[in-house]
Amino acid sequence: MTAAVGLCATCAHARRVQSAKGSVFWLCGLASTDRRFPKYPPLPVVRCAGHRPGSPT
Ligand code: SF4
Repeated sequence: MTAAVGLCATCAHARRVQSAKGSVFWLCGLASTDRRFPKYPPLPVVRCAGHRPGSPT
């Protein structure tokens, strides 16, 4: 799973959201304050200036 998601899986800005049907979406928390970051980054994210090591919520 981590390989399919890329850097977001280890980023403190990331939020993992699961729909009622079981689909999983990854939201970038920086998107609300910085237009360089898409709300739903195309996965896997292999390079990201905003990556901050930590646990997604
Ligand atoms: S800052 Fe980068 S690595 Fe972190 S959640 Fe946003 S897109 Fe993913």
